[in-house]
This record gives sequence, structure tokens and C-alpha cells, in this order.
Amino acid sequence: MEIKKATEAVSSGVPTAVQLEAINAQAKAQLTAEQVYVFSLRLCDDQIDRDQERFDTTALPGLATLFIGKTGIVDHRWSAENQIARIFETQVVKEKGVSYVKAWAYIRRGGSNDEVIADIEAGIKKEVSVGCAMGSAVCSICGSEYGTCGHLKGEFYDGQHCCAILQDPVDAYEFSFVAVPAQRDAGVLKALGGRKKNLQELAEEFGIQAEYRGLFKEAELGRQYRRELENDVVRMLQSLDLGADHQVLRSVVKSAAAEDLLKLRGSLEAKMAEFLPVTTQLGGFAEEKAKLESGFLI
Ligand SMILES: [Zn+2]
Repeated sequence: MEIKKATEAVSSGVPTAVQLEAINAQAKAQLTAEQVYVFSLRLCDDQIDRDQERFDTTALPGLATLFIGKTGIVDHRWSAENQIARIFETQVVKEKGVSYVKAWAYIRRGGSNDEVIADIEAGIKKEVSVGCAMGSAVCSICGSEYGTCGHLKGEFYDGQHCCAILQDPVDAYEFSFVAVPAQRDAGVLKALGGRKKNLQELAEEFGIQAEYRGLFKEAELGRQYRRELENDVVRMLQSLDLGADHQVLRSVVKSAAAEDLLKLRGSLEAKMAEFLPVTTQLGGFAEEKAKLESGFLI
């Protein structure tokens, strides 16, 4: 899935000697300290955000590496001349129990770039939208793949806040400067990416969570019915004394289609009914025996 988050650029200024070395490792031309402007960005952290999602703390180092060399564009316009900033260094920082990826980027001074630098310094272009692709999202309550378990992000279960934990960083994308405050909420954009959206995410997107919950409940009833059907068939097959292993019967029954299981249960029930008269006779016999015995006792 592709993730987009909003963050902020922090004005910094002239690069240190070490930073200049890292910048020149990324730049095509050898740049001097006077030619570049350096600023830092807080790319992503491991806290629950407004999408009720958070990056897994263990995913941050991988993301940090993926962001090195990524370029920054201005106001979502996509052309080579707009790719004015480039991340040359990243680091996972831990502060007050929060881990986040901090990035340092540079802009070449001169021409229209100076306007962007001035905007960053003035705090005008400080909002930045960053994007990345994550391989998986799991439910914070039960650890299942998010969307497969019925827990909904943003809701509380026994006081525990449910969120989707984003794992397995796959790729990091260009970042963009967003003019503030017109597009304050523009930073959060989601698009179909490496993973298809599941039904639950679509329900959240289109505001039909209640319908989804209803369907989920009905599906749960269906699964319960299926489990009972499987149990019935296994129990009857076992009572036939076929000498088959219980686990083998379970696995055969599990992979069978529901329609086949229904038919099989029908014929097994019919077969069992054939034995019923015998049971009745035996019962009758037992009754006779009881009578005889009681007679004997008298
Ligand atoms: Zn769950």
C-alpha cells in the first residue's frame, strides 16, 4: 500500500563539512558549502496518526535507508526542474519514547530556488508531504493482517486503541513541499499501491462501516455453520469405524466444498438411520431383559 503523510521542514542553513561530504556523494557536481542550503525533516514516526495508523518501530531503519537520495518537489508539480531538494542523510531518532526518521536535505542556492529557501526560512513552505510503500499492515489488537479480523482502527477494545501497524518498507517516494495553510490536509493522500485495498479499508474510505460490520457478522455466522457442518461429518465418519485417522478426516472435510459436505452429511444421516431400528431392537431387548431380571428379583 502507498502511504502519504504530512511533515515539516526545519530550517537549518549552511552544511557542516561532514554533511557536505554526504551531499556530494548524492550530487552530480561537486558543491561547496556556500552553494547549498540544508534543512531537516521529520519523515515518519511510530505514533498513531490521524489515519489511525502507525509505522512499526522496527520498520523505521529500513524506511530511513530507502529515503536517502530521494528528491523533493514544490507544490506537487512534477518535472525535473521542480526537483529541487534531495535527502542526503537519514537517521532513526528516539526522543521521549517516540522513534522517528529524521532526514537532512539540501537545496542548491540560486535562481528560483532562493524563493523556496526564503519560504522555508519564513516557515511558509514548511509543510512537507512524504510518501512510501509498505508491504503489510497488521491489527494492533490481535496481530492479524489488518482487515481480516473484524477489529476496526480508531475503536477501542477493552480500553486498547486499535490501529493498523505498517510494516515491511518496500519503497520511499519523492517528497513535496505543500504551501501552508491552503493545503494543510493535503499531506494525507492514499493511493492503491503494491497491495490491493481490502473490503474493510474500502468501507472506511466510503463511510459504509456499518454495512461492512453487518456483513462481517453474517459471514461469521456462515463460518460458524460451516464449522458445525464439518464437526457433524467428522463425528459420523468416525462412528463408522473406518479406521481413518481423526486428523486425516478433519483435513479432508476442511478442504471439501460446503455443498458436498451437505450431501455427505445427508447420506451419512441416512446410513445412521439404517442402524437405528437395530438400536430400537436392542433397546427392546434391553427392556425385555430388564423385565426378566426384575421378574427374577421378584
Ligand atoms: Zn484484530
